[in-house]
Amino acid sequence: MLRIMKHISDIYQEISTPKKIVITMHQKPDGDAMGSTLGLYHFLLPFKHEIVVISPTNWASFLDWMPGCNEVLDYEKMSTKADAFIQAADWIFCLDFNTLSRTKNMESCLLNAPGKRILIDHHQQPQKDAFYCGISDTSKSSTAEMVYDFINAAGYNQNIDSNISQCLYAGVMTDTGSFRFPSTSASVHEMVSDLLKKGLQQSVVHENLFDNFTENRLRFIGNTLLNRMEVFYEYNTALIAITQQDLIKYDIKTGDTEGLVNYPLSIEGIKLAAIVIDRGEERKCSFRSKGNVDVNTFARKYFNGGGHFNAAGGFSKDPLEKVISDFKIAISENKDILSTYKF
Ligand code: 5GP
Ligand code: MN
Repeated sequence: MLRIMKHISDIYQEISTPKKIVITMHQKPDGDAMGSTLGLYHFLLPFKHEIVVISPTNWASFLDWMPGCNEVLDYEKMSTKADAFIQAADWIFCLDFNTLSRTKNMESCLLNAPGKRILIDHHQQPQKDAFYCGISDTSKSSTAEMVYDFINAAGYNQNIDSNISQCLYAGVMTDTGSFRFPSTSASVHEMVSDLLKKGLQQSVVHENLFDNFTENRLRFIGNTLLNRMEVFYEYNTALIAITQQDLIKYDIKTGDTEGLVNYPLSIEGIKLAAIVIDRGEERKCSFRSKGNVDVNTFARKYFNGGGHFNAAGGFSKDPLEKVISDFKIAISENKDILSTYKF
């Protein structure tokens, strides 16, 4: 039976009534997934709810500084405990993902849970019939901005404290590429202005996120750009392919490759950048584009994925060499849109 997702205003009245709440996010959470869930967590805590934040998988260590991150359950390590929380929850907030399959091994437990699933997300083509209520808005910069809007719309702007501010700022800043992507609307700057007036120290957040890596990671990036990047000028495209041996040699951990896909876009004329990483169990792909190149459709069509118009991802079970050759075929099939230099 197809259910129509109600608007999130359906729950405003009940926010202050204590409940059992689970907040979850997509697998391998990024700054927005972790920032939006922890921002919501800190907002809900004072209302005396019983709240558990669950990540479907582990996450990058550059997120560990976020207030509350040390209490997040990793589903892959604590599935029995997490399943019990999910089954008992009155509300299950689902943040920064559009389909339940983005929660990997948690999907069936979420589907079978009796509680109300509530969506807050900005990805395209959400699985609306899987949610009791929520907001899906692809025009929004980040889920963190949507959590900020939710708090305001429910009438609680004055409750935004330092913990909430840091988490939401981290989410909006990372998802907008430090306020440079076209999604950086006036409302994003208005939100940041409000957070700054409330005492946010934004440079501390930037340092926590970007200045805590290992020397190995920087050398890995050097090697990657020198030896693992191929540029296809006739298609205004560049591809980075990373082997398992590279990951082992430089001791690369979850999150160390974050942002690497953006580097080729700094080459004049490049409007599609891709990275394929051999993670052993699968080849993980990320796509970034400029202007009129729709990588959401590209990732859906060729790499079992999806995402946003200018930022998407996918995966393949084929060997790395096959994924590289498939990518080359895919760009040649999209020659018309790629070869015309138009920004
Ligand atoms: P990233 O390349 O940073 O992993 O992801 C870019 C965007 O694409 C994110 O919004 C992410 O949620 C989405 N995305 C990444 N991988 C997948 C995937 O395998 N399937 C779908 N549907 N979306 C993905
Ligand atoms: Mn996001």
